[in-house]
Amino acid sequence: MLISFEDFQANLAQVMGQIAAACRKVGRKPESVTLLPVTKNHPVDVARYAWEAGLRSVGENRVQEALGKMGDVDVQLRWELIGPLQSNKSKKVAESFARVQTVDRVKIAKALDRYAGEAGRTLSVLLQVNAGRDPAKSGVELEEAPALLEAALACPNLKVDGLMTIAPVSDDPEVALRTFASLRECRDALGERFGVDLPELSMGMSGDMEEAIAEGSTMVRVGTALYGQRNYAG
Ligand SMILES: *Cc1c(COP(=O)(O)O)cnc(C)c1O
Repeated sequence: MLISFEDFQANLAQVMGQIAAACRKVGRKPESVTLLPVTKNHPVDVARYAWEAGLRSVGENRVQEALGKMGDVDVQLRWELIGPLQSNKSKKVAESFARVQTVDRVKIAKALDRYAGEAGRTLSVLLQVNAGRDPAKSGVELEEAPALLEAALACPNLKVDGLMTIAPVSDDPEVALRTFASLRECRDALGERFGVDLPELSMGMSGDMEEAIAEGSTMVRVGTALYGQRNYAG
């Protein structure tokens, strides 16, 4: 069911309040955290809601679904891919998305680089790291992150903005805290080792925003808290 714009605005105010409170708690500026509304499994209307509320980027996790929606909005939203990417879709993705947050292997980096080059553009990416060592999550293993970054930095048509992770599902907030701290430490170590700036840490969702912000998140990806439960049937 599509939520009303008024209900979305109320949810947005609530989420912005949560972000500000989480920032205050650890002495960060609220502007240091960007909210990425996640519109997956919702009608394209909710991407328009985001635009009308002044947000300029949205996150989608299925390529096909996102491409369809892109054709249905007439505003200049930036679309970020936050779901798994198969290499046979990398041409479309390199042409259409503003950023890919889920680069987790060299093969995908190279494919995106090639197609971004053919499209005459530079594609922003994040490396997805399995910082929680969760067998159920994708992402490059922490030990393999340096090799992946090295390969991505060698791609002339990619711009590596930083890292992304998804914390393991757990009732214990310590698990999320440890995961997010580990992504930040990984970023710091990579930055030093390769002498590059990796400013973006995409971590935190509806259920673990506060932990992510405490550990340095610069982007929280939020679906449920903004738009309600997703309609998994369609
Ligand atoms: C769905 C999804 C989100 C949003 O999750 P919510 O719990 O609904 O806020 C964030 N990140 C990724 C990678 C997702 O797939």
